[in-house]
Amino acid sequence: MINIFVDEKNLEYDIYALLKAFYPKEEVLVKTAEKGHDNADKKESGGVPSFYDVHFDVEKVYCSYTDNGRELIREEETHGGTDKADIKNAMKRCIYRTASKVTGNELPWGTLTGIRPVKLAMNMICEGRSHNDIYDFLKNTYYVSDEKIILATDIAGREKSILECIDAKNGYSLYIGIPFCPTTCLYCSFTSYPIAKWRKRVSEYLTCLKREIDLVRELYKGKTPDTIYIGGGTPTTLEPEQLRELIGYLNASFNMNDVIEFTVEAGRPDSITREKLNTLKELGVSRISVNPQTMNDETLKVIGRRHTVDDVKRAFALARECGFDNINTDVILGLPGEDLMHIKHTMDEIRLLAPDSLTVHSMAIKRAAGMDQYLKEHTELKSINTPDMLDIAANTADELSMKPYYLYRQKNMTGNFENVGYAREGCYGIYNILIMEEVQSIIACGAGTVSKRVFNNGRIERCDNVKDVELYMSRLDEMLERKRTLFGD
Ligand code: SF4
Repeated sequence: MINIFVDEKNLEYDIYALLKAFYPKEEVLVKTAEKGHDNADKKESGGVPSFYDVHFDVEKVYCSYTDNGRELIREEETHGGTDKADIKNAMKRCIYRTASKVTGNELPWGTLTGIRPVKLAMNMICEGRSHNDIYDFLKNTYYVSDEKIILATDIAGREKSILECIDAKNGYSLYIGIPFCPTTCLYCSFTSYPIAKWRKRVSEYLTCLKREIDLVRELYKGKTPDTIYIGGGTPTTLEPEQLRELIGYLNASFNMNDVIEFTVEAGRPDSITREKLNTLKELGVSRISVNPQTMNDETLKVIGRRHTVDDVKRAFALARECGFDNINTDVILGLPGEDLMHIKHTMDEIRLLAPDSLTVHSMAIKRAAGMDQYLKEHTELKSINTPDMLDIAANTADELSMKPYYLYRQKNMTGNFENVGYAREGCYGIYNILIMEEVQSIIACGAGTVSKRVFNNGRIERCDNVKDVELYMSRLDEMLERKRTLFGD
């Protein structure tokens, strides 16, 4: 248990997120004490042998670390007085230096704990700032490592030029969630239910989606979305005629010739058939995802995917045969029991598959998913992610002539790294950039989806649909009303 005391309110979450990055396996407890109060006695008499202490005065913030009554480290930083962001950043730098000395570790993303680090570089590029300015800002304000600054700046520049092909502000994108999967993966934190249980009610679910699509058409006055993304879950758990019903409805609702990118996640190879792929192709789907996550059969068993590496290869070859020329593959670094050799093997196999884009995830261990408990029960299997593993993945992408084009971070990522999307020129997933950069409204239909409206002045508001499929269907009118309130003029 890591205890940290602070004598200022409303900074608890930032402190928690930063300390958690230094201590991923520990529970972190942030306690807010009375301003200016010297709590040392209280902490020790309260049975807390070691703790961090953050203290503010009018000019400075101080962070110390005490162990068994002895203050071992003390850092201080001038915070500038009144600006909330400056105060918060100064505090995080002060805590960072202290925790770094205590643990002997540095964090690749420094004090940045948000999920969209590229956005900072992107904003500066849009303001016309030079690469040197961006470097200085990310280095001095957030202590980001040189390697990650280069990555973030490279991606921001690429995203900017990709987005120049669309009028993002005046358009919108459409997301449709199919919350069913063949089985539940051990690490899953998405809205996903076993298709076997819901098979008989899929048509009821599709009826609800159609009512949501009707509302989208009404709210956007018949205007076609720039990009459409059918995700989940696993959309290809639907039968071919159900896919035809849903995508046919989209075709009838919008002028699909104006859609720049139409993605369907065909994620699980055990859900893919020739008939489904032909249906997707015939109805205008331009991009699909076939996701191995790992090319090691033993790991696939551990994570509950219930398909084999051969299934991945078969599904991928079938997709090529059916004419798909923009196929993404997702892999995860840090799956239980995988070491450098496993990652090398996965990447060797990915090189042979030669997808058009590759998304490299760093394992995020969420409490709600089964992975957290599994690792506690199987201490022989570790979740390990290292810079070497990331390099192998990045080199594979490079050998496949791919460039990094989007990046995001999640809470509790093994190694505190990032997820990076790589793609060949012309195969960049535009929807992925739009959702990360928050430059366009995304209206989302289906259980567990979140819609986001980006207003002209940059303000962002969200509304969500309930996760539970039963509740989503029975409370659909309420979900529609939420959308009407958010997206109505
Ligand atoms: S395929 Fe994706 S959505 Fe489905 S259970 Fe696995 S992680 Fe969850």
